[in-house]
Amino acid sequence: MSATAEILIPLALDTPYSYAVPAGLALSEGDVVQVPLGPRETLGVVWSVAERAGGSNLRPVTGRVDVGPLPPALRALVDWLARYTLAPKGSALAMALRVPDEAARREVPRVGVRATGKPPARATAARTKVLAVAADGTLRGKTELAKAADVSLSVVDGLVDDGALEAVALQPEPVALPPDPDFARGTPLSDAQSEAAATLSAAEGATVTLLEGVTGSGKTEVYFEAVAACLRRGKQALILMPEIALTAQFLDRFAVRFGVRPATWHSGVSGRRRERIRAGVADGEVSVVVGARSALFLPFARLGLIVVDEEHETAYKQEDGVHYHARDMAVVRGRIEECPVVLASATPSIESRVNAERGRYRRIVLPERFGGRRLPDIAAVDMRLDKPERGRFIAPPVVAAVRQALADGEQALLFLNRRGYAPLTLCRSCGHRYQCPQCSTWLVEHRFRRALVCHQCGHAERRPEACVECGTIDSHTACGPGVERIAEEAAELFPDKRIIVLSSDFPGGAERLRAELDAVAAGACDIVIGTQLVAKGHNFPHLTLVGVLDADIGLTSGDPRASERTFQLLQQVTGRAGRGERPGRALVQTYQPGHPVIAALLSGDAERFYAEEIAAREEAELPPFGRLAALIVSGTDKQAAEAHGQALARAAEPPPGIAVLGPAEAPLALIRGRHRFRLLVKTERSVDIQAYLRDWLARGPKPRGNLRVTVDVDPQSF
Ligand code: ADP
Ligand code: ZN
Repeated sequence: MSATAEILIPLALDTPYSYAVPAGLALSEGDVVQVPLGPRETLGVVWSVAERAGGSNLRPVTGRVDVGPLPPALRALVDWLARYTLAPKGSALAMALRVPDEAARREVPRVGVRATGKPPARATAARTKVLAVAADGTLRGKTELAKAADVSLSVVDGLVDDGALEAVALQPEPVALPPDPDFARGTPLSDAQSEAAATLSAAEGATVTLLEGVTGSGKTEVYFEAVAACLRRGKQALILMPEIALTAQFLDRFAVRFGVRPATWHSGVSGRRRERIRAGVADGEVSVVVGARSALFLPFARLGLIVVDEEHETAYKQEDGVHYHARDMAVVRGRIEECPVVLASATPSIESRVNAERGRYRRIVLPERFGGRRLPDIAAVDMRLDKPERGRFIAPPVVAAVRQALADGEQALLFLNRRGYAPLTLCRSCGHRYQCPQCSTWLVEHRFRRALVCHQCGHAERRPEACVECGTIDSHTACGPGVERIAEEAAELFPDKRIIVLSSDFPGGAERLRAELDAVAAGACDIVIGTQLVAKGHNFPHLTLVGVLDADIGLTSGDPRASERTFQLLQQVTGRAGRGERPGRALVQTYQPGHPVIAALLSGDAERFYAEEIAAREEAELPPFGRLAALIVSGTDKQAAEAHGQALARAAEPPPGIAVLGPAEAPLALIRGRHRFRLLVKTERSVDIQAYLRDWLARGPKPRGNLRVTVDVDPQSF
């Protein structure tokens, strides 16, 4: 008898592999170990250990790695995630073991050199100079030493080769963890807030509460109380945010309430800091983490609360690798940890609203803005009647309203959810349209960068002088507006006003953008022109007017979720107006003022919108009343991809209660040179869709060559 261990390796593998446990190595479930895999060594996690006969032909575990074990709750989450998403279990583990981090890989440990006292084999003037400097025994970087001795780096390298200098790892500066939040501080709350906070703070066990409050109702202060209550119980709290909302503003508010800024976790946190926070979370030293969706896979020692802010945000859905929805996984983790989960939003997802209606979630509503502030008045600008002149996009009533707001010393926001200058460029002479060579998308003109850019794959090319098709010079026209074009128009209309364009193209990266958002909040500009980036979460106290330049953008797509998304986005962006002292208003440019989404927005009757949308979903048996999964077949050869999709469809053999649709070209039919076909699986709610998918994929044809099949359970667009 010898012990064998099942080791899960964080690669795209479905099951753990068996290894022999060498005598003298005591392993427990969750231990992180090093194991041989083919010709190399890799990290893995002990999934189970057993005494078993005949394990002698197994390769042995190399050894335990000196990091804390993966806690049972996190292993359970990995198991759950893999089962639900059909992702390989190893891929699910990869997110919990080490969240992929480019920055960490780039971070090279610093090495210093010092004299060994051994004379070099060959002494030159340059070498003597180096050794003279090094004689003081100080540990210096190689470049630093070369500079101090005024010689080239190769001289220092030569001395290291000779053994006259030795390389020693420089101790990196320690990463400081934020001090403990002070939960005893407090903010006086309104009556509505106090009541909500009391209910939230009293929640225990695996309960889910939907905290639904209009924009500016003070949801943040309410869930801060739940965080404080959690800390008072000696537990840890996790606040999830859609990446973009990790603003300095939020961290400052946290600091006002708790005296310190919280530990943050997102893709921009550097390698050593990540490791430090991970370790701090695991040993309980870090009590609050504010993070993007990947923070869900941190090894909390005693998690007591998860808050998902802006729970309706699409950014919570990961669309590559393991396709998971962080809001749903937060609910799962809450269940595993037996801790409460709070979902906060002004415009909840249909899923969460239905869960609340069915009694699966509790619902707390804050119907009014904090401090007696009014919600903005929202009016439509009917573009059939009030169109701007040709080539212009800001309608006259909006121009007048902006002028008035600026005259009153207030700020205006012009919202258009389109990056760049123009979404389409065509040749007036031959009609040629500029398309991405590897995607089925039009190239978007970015005048600031002087390029035509693909928003799908990043491909960029210079905007040519002459049409690439017919050779006509200067025949290109920009069709339709992007935010850059709106900025041009606004600059002509308001030549002496300070105008800023805020989109994800903002030059200088996230730090600069954050600083800019703070500047806007402080009143440092007159007109903000922005995409959805400015629509959410921000608090601009001087902003009283919001102009939505094209409310119809999302409504025409064939996606059944289009109404929900558009309603949420428009509600959020109009909700930026009047959050300060003065009341706000919003003007919404639309060709369809009678559309249910626009009508609900104008009347402020969100309840009616939800009721109608939920009824429509139920009628069509769409989520959450039925289940849905997408299978995407992709490959560089279009015919091969389609043929594989058809072969899969033939093997589908759906039983009653399950429908398989397609294959059809996916909504984005070509991405990065790969053609994509989609099969949709639609089932009744009671059906175990994962079991069906697993069985089908096991029976069906296997993709060959560069064909790939990806599974997306609960796809966000369908
Ligand atoms: P929401 O997230 O619901 O849109 P916020 O939490 O951002 O709303 O609150 C809106 C505004 O009201 C913010 O400026 C916030 O600082 C302020 N506020 C909310 N609650 C309080 C309170 N109890 N005391 C003082 N200011 C508050
Ligand atoms: Zn492209």
